[in-house]
Amino acid sequence: MIRFENVSVRYDGQEHPALRDADFEVPEGELVLLVGPSGSGKSTLLGAVSGLVPHFTGGTLRGRVTVAGRDTRTHKPRELADVVGTVGQDPLAHFVTDTVEDELAYGMESMGTAPDVMRRRVEETLDLLGLTELRDRPIATLSGGQRQRVAIGSVLTPHPRVLVLDEPTSALDPAAAEEVLAVLQRLVHDLGTTVLMAEHRLERVVQYADQVLLLPGPGERPRLGEPGRIMADSPVRPPVVEL
Ligand code: ADP
Ligand code: ADP
Repeated sequence: MIRFENVSVRYDGQEHPALRDADFEVPEGELVLLVGPSGSGKSTLLGAVSGLVPHFTGGTLRGRVTVAGRDTRTHKPRELADVVGTVGQDPLAHFVTDTVEDELAYGMESMGTAPDVMRRRVEETLDLLGLTELRDRPIATLSGGQRQRVAIGSVLTPHPRVLVLDEPTSALDPAAAEEVLAVLQRLVHDLGTTVLMAEHRLERVVQYADQVLLLPGPGERPRLGEPGRIMADSPVRPPVVEL
């Protein structure tokens, strides 16, 4: 579903590439974790999936990234929005409307979806993410975990086949992080959505993963280090691919 063929990204004026020769595949319906220290290129890799890199960030991408068969370099992020939904660390940065229900409808509205389809999708998403009771609430009054569920819901309504998340639980307390992870698991299970997620609290999420992609720190060779220990402690040990 996601395919990187020898992908390197170098930003203008940077001495080292932010991503070097990344080559991997994420099969349809898998939940894959992306792990690596700060500055190792996690956001760059995720941006290359959603098309933000290099369209909005500048720099040069070599190699080829395809998502559901579409080359992300020849498609603008807008032209990928029906296949890839992207959620960042800070859900507040994401919101453009006032209430939960409006937020879920917004993405489809801007794609020109028919009103009856839109209403149905919003109902489905409210139900799937456990947000039905909160539909009329102003987003500003929600908890962190609730907000992050709304952010995920807002990119889910167009039924993207791939969901990309950049440390979606990093701003959340443990209970709220669990809420979000449970939602992601349900998406993979019920909708067959392919999920690629950067996450540094590996111990919390490794049990849900089908595969772990490990990025070395800048100038390092890949090494399992702490992820290796966490993995050894986990009852579930997904395969690790060192990039
Ligand atoms: P952040 O500032 O985003 O928390 P860190 O540099 O502290 O990033 O690293 C976060 C986690 O990344 C570490 O706890 C470690 O488990 C993990 N990690 C990922 N890849 C590596 C690696 N190649 N070597 C060592 N630790 C790694
Ligand atoms: P991570 O998400 O693992 O912290 P990033 O992908 O954000 O890593 O960053 C990888 C490297 O690329 C870092 O050295 C960072 O400073 C640099 N970088 C990221 N975005 C840009 C940009 N738009 N322009 C220039 N350098 C960037």
